[in-house]
Amino acid sequence: MTSAEQQHQTYCVRCGECCQASSPTLQREDVPKVTAGVIPWRDLYTLRPGEPVRDNVRGGLKPLDQELIKLRETGQGACIYYDEEDRACRIYEHRPVQCAAQKCWDDTDFMKVHARPKATRKDLLQDPGLLRLIQAHEERCSIIELESQIKAIQSQGESAVTHVLGMLKFDHDLREMIPERLEIASEETDLILGRPLVRIIERFGLKVAKEADGSFLLTVLEPSEG
Ligand code: SF4
Ligand code: SF4
Repeated sequence: MTSAEQQHQTYCVRCGECCQASSPTLQREDVPKVTAGVIPWRDLYTLRPGEPVRDNVRGGLKPLDQELIKLRETGQGACIYYDEEDRACRIYEHRPVQCAAQKCWDDTDFMKVHARPKATRKDLLQDPGLLRLIQAHEERCSIIELESQIKAIQSQGESAVTHVLGMLKFDHDLREMIPERLEIASEETDLILGRPLVRIIERFGLKVAKEADGSFLLTVLEPSEG
């Protein structure tokens, strides 16, 4: 739909453009949809404070100042609940409140919803054991600390590299271990622990290679790989 068409629009024609462009962030009002299983854990992931995300207003990347829970996207960036063939939302009756407020011709309702409290892992995963695990992971693998250690590589050299590698290994090993120990699906770890650090580090211009002995090697991400 062109912006000229949007100027005269007064209702949603269900073209699906917004669903193909991105996925919604869950607001606290959406929590019952997750606890009731309408939106399962495996379809969600957590963005943690400090994680660089696309700034839709100014462009480029900016660090998140709060934790967010999002619906997963396809490789093309569409919401996973968008059915391309039927051009429809698979959970329309239970879609997140941000989607219900979405009007591409007028963002007033969306901005009101957006200003209300966002859902967090504490709201969704009420199990005390899981919340302790999240706390321990945050203490060892915070993204703010990861960025600070990456910045310190130039001045501190080997010790900062060792610190970064230790964080990557802890995060990696925990992800391998918890599905079996806690009997959860491996897809659910992106909600419980956020996205893997080996992926997030690419947003800071580094990439990780795994050596034959299982150890990690840090290298610079080439611009063509970003
Ligand atoms: S709100 Fe989304 S689905 Fe509705 S007309 Fe606008 S872009 Fe299309
Ligand atoms: S949940 Fe449904 S309405 Fe919302 S972005 Fe996904 S497909 Fe679109």
